[in-house]
Amino acid sequence: MSAVDEAHVISLCDQLLAELDPKTTPPEVFLGRQYDLGLGWVHFPEGYGGLGGSPRLQKSINEKLLGAGAPLAAVRNVIGHGMGAPTVVTHGSEAQKQRYLRPLFTGEEIWCQLFSEPGAGSDVAGLAARAVKDGEEWIVNGQKVWTTLAHLAKWGMMVARTDPDAPKHKGMTYFVVDMEAPGVEVKPLFQITGEAEFNEVFFTDVRIPDAERLSDVGDGWRVVLTTLMNERVAIGGGIPPRGGGFIGEAMKVWKKLGPDQTDAAKRDRLMQLWTKAEVLRLTNIRAGQLRSVGNPGPEGSIGKIVSANLNKEISEFTVDLLGAEGMLKPDGYPMERPRHAMMWANPQQAFLRARANSIEGGTTEIAKNILGERVLGLPGDVRVDKEVAWKDVPRS
Ligand SMILES: Cc1cc2nc3c(=O)[nH]c(=O)nc-3n(C[C@H](O)[C@H](O)[C@H](O)COP(=O)(O)OP(=O)(O)OC[C@H]3O[C@@H](n4cnc5c(N)ncnc54)[C@H](O)[C@@H]3O)c2cc1C
Repeated sequence: MSAVDEAHVISLCDQLLAELDPKTTPPEVFLGRQYDLGLGWVHFPEGYGGLGGSPRLQKSINEKLLGAGAPLAAVRNVIGHGMGAPTVVTHGSEAQKQRYLRPLFTGEEIWCQLFSEPGAGSDVAGLAARAVKDGEEWIVNGQKVWTTLAHLAKWGMMVARTDPDAPKHKGMTYFVVDMEAPGVEVKPLFQITGEAEFNEVFFTDVRIPDAERLSDVGDGWRVVLTTLMNERVAIGGGIPPRGGGFIGEAMKVWKKLGPDQTDAAKRDRLMQLWTKAEVLRLTNIRAGQLRSVGNPGPEGSIGKIVSANLNKEISEFTVDLLGAEGMLKPDGYPMERPRHAMMWANPQQAFLRARANSIEGGTTEIAKNILGERVLGLPGDVRVDKEVAWKDVPRS
């Protein structure tokens, strides 16, 4: 049996809890020690927050530590945790892994993802932000959009065009950009919920040291794919407790209704939704356990598609249960720039926020294309610009 088995990680959890009381220790201190013991991402190599163990051990670690009142790293740095860390550990140099991973895990340095642009969303490989080499630095100009939590971020995962003469997938390079560098401007974009989780980000002559380049020059797309595959699972692959998440919110509302507000038809609908939520939960557990190495493949799109639809269905049913009360958000529309993304405080906010689930992290249509082509082996989408130099592709 491997040295990194359930008993070993649980004994390390016991050691951590004996050393530091999670209820009184500052979260970044507790999480730093968790990282150092290899209990951060247990499937990462030793020295990078892991022990080279099976990813399925993470569930036991999290249950043990959360049960004792420990902070959850993923919630403190959702983009960094779900997408930045697997990208850095897979593609980063030794120096980059040492520099980025620990403060990312502890939440001392928040990460954001700078892929989408006004003219490049689903077709992210068409992006236009430009990076030009200048000695040991790159000078970046361009605009990104929908950048979740950019207002808090220290680091951004940034893809820019470095060779406009190459076809679109071949002329991009992947950088980690310091969001505090001169020339980076972050402006809020408000959402239907009233909050501004995301932003526009403008780059004007921003200098990125070559040491902060994560891909080979022109090979950014390979690294982008690692980020995107992890993003789909981070968004759609969640494993809430049984009866938790969106369906938990519906159950809470249901239990408070009076007898005149419920009937057999509503109960039947609730049961159908509960069953679907449980099937998705079990599917995501199975997918996580089948994944013996870190990075998910195209099948991660399944959870993304199903959860987007189901979150909308459940949250719509929940506001219907509330009747007229469902039409008004109890906390108003406060126009805040929140510290967290994809969270909700009440069913009305959940209903509004769920609208974005079929867009963020790749739309449902694109996820279906991925499943069709890469899982089912169906003929590919029409791609007329695949072999054309990016600069010669017509764009508006
Ligand atoms: C809440 C939220 C948070 C986000 N956070 C980030 C972030 O942090 N960082 C970031 O980089 N981006 C972020 N995004 C952007 C997101 O990735 C894009 O919105 C998404 O990829 C779609 O791109 P688009 O908005 O340009 O739509 P478009 O690509 O213009 O798509 C418009 C419509 O056309 C459909 N379509 C496009 N191409 C095809 C095709 N080939 N086949 C079939 N249908 C097609 C789409 O499905 C969609 O319905 C966020 C978006 C949201 C809503």
